[in-house]
Amino acid sequence: MTIQATDDVAGDASATGGLMARAAATLLPTYARQPVAFVAGEGCWLTDAEGRRHLDALCGLAVTSLGHAHPDVTAAISSQAARLLHTSNLTYTVPQIEVAERLATTLGWPDARTFLANSGAEAVEGALKLARRHGLAQADGKVGVVALSGGFHGRTLAALAVTGSPAKHAPFEPLGAWVTHVGPDDPAALEVAVGADTCAVLLEVVQGEAGVVPISEELLRVARRACDRVGALLVIDEVQTGIGRLGAWYGWQTTAVEPDVVTLAKALGNGLPIGAVVARGAAATAFGPGDHGSTFGGGPLPCAAARTVLDVIARDGLVAHAQRMGAALRARLEDLTRRHPVASGVRGRGLLQALELDAPVAAPVTSAALARGLVVNAVAPAAVRLSPPLIITEPELDQLHDRLDAALADSAGAR
Ligand SMILES: *Cc1c(COP(=O)(O)O)cnc(C)c1O
Repeated sequence: MTIQATDDVAGDASATGGLMARAAATLLPTYARQPVAFVAGEGCWLTDAEGRRHLDALCGLAVTSLGHAHPDVTAAISSQAARLLHTSNLTYTVPQIEVAERLATTLGWPDARTFLANSGAEAVEGALKLARRHGLAQADGKVGVVALSGGFHGRTLAALAVTGSPAKHAPFEPLGAWVTHVGPDDPAALEVAVGADTCAVLLEVVQGEAGVVPISEELLRVARRACDRVGALLVIDEVQTGIGRLGAWYGWQTTAVEPDVVTLAKALGNGLPIGAVVARGAAATAFGPGDHGSTFGGGPLPCAAARTVLDVIARDGLVAHAQRMGAALRARLEDLTRRHPVASGVRGRGLLQALELDAPVAAPVTSAALARGLVVNAVAPAAVRLSPPLIITEPELDQLHDRLDAALADSAGAR
């Protein structure tokens, strides 16, 4: 007997309610989900269980940057799946090495060394362990990490400890006495917080989960100088900003500051789970055999996808395209700020932008957008996040604008 998948429910008008009831009866309630189930996608478009089409202006959460069902990615995954799914990291595989080579090239780091993991939180864990190893090789007790309030680095215990969100910490304390958080607008506090016992400063160049908040050049420069002063590593978490999202291969390349270590995940596999820690210079030599590992990390299947993602972005000029589309997106969002009193501003960079609202109505605006066939996210109570595919076109951005325009009008009418 053939085992058949049963997820082909498209066209059934009652499908969503049934799925929601089954989810409530079976899944731990860790997510506040939108009342929609997607069953298929192509390019920038998603189809839900009831057969409706939606413009995907979110990409999961900045994951499917090449869009859905990209033919090159599908072909790479299919042929790798038929060839080899897994061997242990005690042997070599071609896709893993080729991903590391491409990361070094795109980072512009000939001496880069990469560790491959399965998620963003795991990449952050790997970077924290690397920084601790690098610190302890210099001095006993050099294990402190300075991170930013509002920063988001993942949900495992160490990644949660460096995440700068008291609300996410509170239910799980105590977390880490080794972490100090300073305000993202307070370079002087960062300067003071970094001392002889600091092994790393960890930050994002645009804080994604905080609500798409760009970090100032001044703070980045102070962080770089403070790290150099005490022999700490500057770790930039590029899990959300990397792989072309900001209109550069990596977010740090839009700034005047170069990190020692970057963490990557989200868009790297276009939906397959993969994370990476990439280190250069002294950081690249801090780990030895046995210091870190992962059963699945760097497996042939996610690496075949990631290799293809990196090749397609380079071949199709999608970094420059993302920069152009980012400017086009910003212009359309700025138009919405002129048309709707509640829309008060635009922030972000490249294709990671937020529409600022002057009241905590991001959730109803997001629900109204969904009803209009537009997927966005209430990233903060008063900010709607847009992180559309890098392949988005101007006509699709017009549709994004028109649907969000209608959603803002709908939700204003409902208030
Ligand atoms: C999403 C995110 C993470 C966590 O990634 P997961 O794959 O969910 O573990 C870490 N850092 C940043 C900046 C992120 O946006």
